[in-house]
Amino acid sequence: MARMRRIKVFDTTLRDGEQTPGVSLTVEQKLMIATALDKLGVDMIEAGTAIASEGDFNSIKEISNAGLKAEICSFGRIKREDIDFAAEAGADSIFMVAPSSDIHINSKFPGKKRENVIEMSVDAVEYAKERGLIVEFGAEDASRADLEFITKLFKAAMEAKADRLTYADTVGVLIPERAEEVMRKLSSTFNVPIAIHCHDDFGLATANTIYALKGGAREFHATINGIGERAGNAALEETVMALEFHYGFKTKIEKQRIYDTSKLVEKLTRIVIPKNKPIVGEYAFTHESGIHTSAIMKDSSTYEPITPEMVGRTRQLVLGKHAGKASIKEIMRRLGYKANNEQMKEILARVKEIGDKGKVVTDADVKTIIETVLQIKMEKKVRLEDVSVVSGMNIMPTASVKLRINGNEIVEAATGLGPVDAAINAIKKAVSEFGDIKLVSYHVDAITGGTDALVDVIVQVSKGDKIVTARGARTDIIMASVEALLEGLNMLI
Ligand SMILES: [Zn+2]
Repeated sequence: MARMRRIKVFDTTLRDGEQTPGVSLTVEQKLMIATALDKLGVDMIEAGTAIASEGDFNSIKEISNAGLKAEICSFGRIKREDIDFAAEAGADSIFMVAPSSDIHINSKFPGKKRENVIEMSVDAVEYAKERGLIVEFGAEDASRADLEFITKLFKAAMEAKADRLTYADTVGVLIPERAEEVMRKLSSTFNVPIAIHCHDDFGLATANTIYALKGGAREFHATINGIGERAGNAALEETVMALEFHYGFKTKIEKQRIYDTSKLVEKLTRIVIPKNKPIVGEYAFTHESGIHTSAIMKDSSTYEPITPEMVGRTRQLVLGKHAGKASIKEIMRRLGYKANNEQMKEILARVKEIGDKGKVVTDADVKTIIETVLQIKMEKKVRLEDVSVVSGMNIMPTASVKLRINGNEIVEAATGLGPVDAAINAIKKAVSEFGDIKLVSYHVDAITGGTDALVDVIVQVSKGDKIVTARGARTDIIMASVEALLEGLNMLI
């Protein structure tokens, strides 16, 4: 039964994850994340440290009262007051840690010896049990401690009726071989579930967690997106996927919920997921290069170990310099469009042009390009000769435009709620004699962060029952908007 073992997942996004520099979650935000984690299927949610602050206390209280399926846990030290706070907050359990390395013993309890730590631990475990808490007893900095001492400490905690034990790699110095060996020893000595808690200082948190489980641990601690102090903790999503895909272990995690949960944590903590992060990073299921994409269209397993749908995502095709006909044809097939050879050449040329400028070309860009090329009118009937916009605090935003339409110059001015609105209104006025032209939708995206970002505007413009999609991309939002609208008008007029 070594394989196919059911592994329990202890999520500490709201405790260790919240200790990420700069992260501070409100009670409401913590409740949102806890609810998502519960749906994701984690077995335990460490919701905070009850004694640490009023916010943490209230979070644990709210989350405990939310009727979630998961066990709700508070972090605590081997101190009676920590236990009192956890119990009063209504937590089901306490993850109680005792310093186990000499470095930690000397810094936390100066003048105390290893024996004193054992005595204090026994007292704390007994007291927590009296207060009705499930006790997960952890050895902090275990990976730098003497294993013989940890065994003694765990024995004492077990005699005091601890329910589970945790081996914490507090500073991320464990290596996989040692993780497996230590867990083999501990799990053959103790009859209760042993958990592993890993940090990622050397990028080994996932590997160490997996090897500890191979060695006999039955539970692991992790955070969504691997957030946490310093280099963070073992990332829940990648540990679960590796465990199930490579090692045949089972967890209760609903894998299709992984991506949504990850994005929620990113949004609320504001810790941006690195683009190349396994499973949840933007590029984890994104393909560039023509050869890759044409192979992927035929059989996704050629360049994907798992499908994006497994973790609740969709595949992204990024074209660009390596854009091949196959990827463009696939997008056209999905959209139900057909192009002749000439149009195909033009589409390919435009896609490559954007790619050559170093900009990432996504499915959405290609869609816009295809739609533009398929409806294009080569000679531009509407040309922009001039535009100026005035805007400020005590002034009505006003724009004036000079257009050349079929060779005739037309000058118009209009006001608006903002400068973009004013410019759009001026153009609409200038073309009003060409039919009932409407701006159906307007969408703006900043391509990169920063006020100097390239702004991408996508508009839908209609004339009668004909609707076209057009696009403008400039660093100036007004110019991008004007460009998009004019492109649309050129398709309609
Ligand atoms: Zn930790």
